Amino acid sequence: MDYDYELIESVNDSEFEKFRISEEILERDYARSDDADLHRIERLLGLEDGALRPRGPYYLKIEDCRTCGKALQVSDFVLTALNDAGHPREFVAQVLLGDKKIAQKPRHVRCSSCGTLSSGRAQYFMGGYACDDQKA
Ligand SMILES: [Zn+2]
Repeated sequence: MDYDYELIESVNDSEFEKFRISEEILERDYARSDDADLHRIERLLGLEDGALRPRGPYYLKIEDCRTCGKALQVSDFVLTALNDAGHPREFVAQVLLGDKKIAQKPRHVRCSSCGTLSSGRAQYFMGGYACDDQKA
């Protein structure tokens, strides 16, 4: 796979809206990144403090690690993209902060505390990056 942001398939605004999750569901079923989580992601991606804020909030569907019980966060999701998928950090930063609207499949998330990979695939919603359940 080529990690060229220019080559990533994007969707238009109206297509992206189909993947938007309602505020009610986000508040009920999703974990929103707090300041500590955002700082952690910024450090992982080599971004300045506060760089992620304009594109937030960042949501990951609530799931606890099946081994240690840690509540998985967007920073675990990002770390999995870097370590498991091997995405360069500049590329991940572009996906989160770039102006493309992208819909990708749900993803396994590895717990950053104990290293266990989630059994299910997590859904997420953030900035211009949404989750398309129909993609396998
Ligand atoms: Zn764990």
